[in-house]
Amino acid sequence: MSGFTPQSTHHRARKRFGQNFLVDQSIINRIVESIDPHAGQHIVEIGPGQAALTRKLIAALGSGGSIDAIEIDRDLVARLVHEFDAGKLRVHQADAMEFDFATLPAPLRVVGNLPYNISTPILFRLCEYEDRISDMTFMLQKEVVDRMAALAGEDARGRLSVMLQYRFKIEKCFDVPPTAFKPVPAVDSSIVRLTPLAAEHDAPAGARRLKPKDEKAFALMVTHAFAKRRKMLRNSLSAWVTPEGWSTIGVDPKARAEDLTTAEFVAISDWTFVNKP
Ligand code: SAM
Repeated sequence: MSGFTPQSTHHRARKRFGQNFLVDQSIINRIVESIDPHAGQHIVEIGPGQAALTRKLIAALGSGGSIDAIEIDRDLVARLVHEFDAGKLRVHQADAMEFDFATLPAPLRVVGNLPYNISTPILFRLCEYEDRISDMTFMLQKEVVDRMAALAGEDARGRLSVMLQYRFKIEKCFDVPPTAFKPVPAVDSSIVRLTPLAAEHDAPAGARRLKPKDEKAFALMVTHAFAKRRKMLRNSLSAWVTPEGWSTIGVDPKARAEDLTTAEFVAISDWTFVNKP
């Protein structure tokens, strides 16, 4: 026996996998509090890394709970498999961008300190599993969280805000300084929670998921509007809405994309669906 265990060697953080590991115990505790794990629950963690969150989550889930974790780095996977009981932590060595979340039992509570280089694509990918998700709590670059939560009229409002807000309630929990990580990242981070909005038609306005008549056309229109965000809508969306259409929709054609509420984007998309200029 050589005495080697995966834990016995130092893991060098890999930049290509966006590895900045949480080391500040009080921040780790606050994140776990925001996730609010209950005994017996099942959680899905993306990028467990060196298990800073995983370890505390497993303790909070108790004997009846478990975690499915998706980790791309095979060295870290070996460490995780070595440290935890397979009944408590099932580690999938996979790219979260390719992993099929439908193979996991719903409803999914998804958490993670996401690799910042692929955080937006992961958010869009998880939207595909919206029906199976009960909530998601993530650490992301602060600037991304500000864009996710930005309301009509705010500078940070963009495609990400609209495409997430028509499906999810978005709550920024708190900011995390670079000093909470090793290695120290160049940017500030924030914790954000996403909860799917109610699908029922009779849910109160604001709590109800919006249903564009054609979701693909809606996504395309929103992308287009923000690609030319400094332009007035009557110019940026001239291929979508006729000059007369704006008054029927009830949106000012001189407004810019960042001025619109999510419901107004849906109204434009639905008008286009029926009227197709
Ligand atoms: N959760 C740990 C923590 O808070 O200290 C690690 C967070 S670190 C910012 C991101 C983690 O995601 C790393 O463990 C990294 O290897 C993993 N990762 C990076 N890209 C990934 C991908 N495409 N799919 C799954 N995991 C990925």
